[in-house]
Amino acid sequence: MELEDKSIIITGASSGIGAAAALLFAAEGAKLVLGARRTAELEALAAQIRENHGRAVFLAGDVRDEGYASALVALALREFGHLDGAFNNAGIVGDMVPVAEMGIANWNDVIAVNLTSAFLAAKAQIPVMKEHRQGSIVFTSSFVGFSNGGLPGMAAYAASKAGMIGLMQSLAADHAGDGIRVNALLPGGTITPAGGAGQPAILDFVANLHPMKRMANSEEIAQAALFLLSDRSSFVTGSPMLVDGGISVRLA
Ligand code: NAP
Repeated sequence: MELEDKSIIITGASSGIGAAAALLFAAEGAKLVLGARRTAELEALAAQIRENHGRAVFLAGDVRDEGYASALVALALREFGHLDGAFNNAGIVGDMVPVAEMGIANWNDVIAVNLTSAFLAAKAQIPVMKEHRQGSIVFTSSFVGFSNGGLPGMAAYAASKAGMIGLMQSLAADHAGDGIRVNALLPGGTITPAGGAGQPAILDFVANLHPMKRMANSEEIAQAALFLLSDRSSFVTGSPMLVDGGISVRLA
């Protein structure tokens, strides 16, 4: 059991990578607090985990809300007594258009959901982890935050995901001495609703940008998150970890 008795928050748990991570972490012994906006999906996932003898509670909310970040931490403490890890994974792509055609509302929304939420999550999680002098925080960035890879119209998304890497490295530097590790996962194209699931033309286009000529499935990305949240990665902090089928070497 890689995560035996570790209490972990997962955001974006109602779908895709977050849902796959929840099932994997629960099978590895974690006690989970699941977050996203859609209550029914979270409820069903928590029930599925409990049916398989795992432990999971959920709280629906919006990651743009500072109160929600604190409430997830409070729920972990109330249910499990401690907080060992956080997979801050919720995110959106937004409108895929060139900057000249992009509305300020889309820019602000993408930055708020992807980047500001990461700041709010860390702000709520760090003090509790610091008190116990241990913790692992993982943000879901993207290969696009590192190297565009050939995807058009990604300016707001790329800026938010690159900003997340800067935030992560500052947090890692500031809190290594507190026993807290902070890393970012940079997935390549992954077959999820946000990644184009159910849209064959998009899946085919994105798959072909990867040297491996395919996209990831959510479980492959969840496996990397498991590594970063487990003690196996005890000397890993400040790392932007590419799990991208080689797409970032294409234009690097
Ligand atoms: P997904 O299936 O669409 O999942 C996105 C998750 O984020 C959902 O659970 C959604 O839940 C949650 N979410 C979105 N906005 C939210 C908000 N304002 N407040 C709370 N939760 C919110 O997509 P995914 O591919 O698994 O995405 C997970 C992460 O991976 C994202 O950060 C994404 O940018 C990143 N990523 C994805 C790919 C890819 O190709 N799929 C590649 C690189 C990186 P609700 O709708 O219920 O709120």
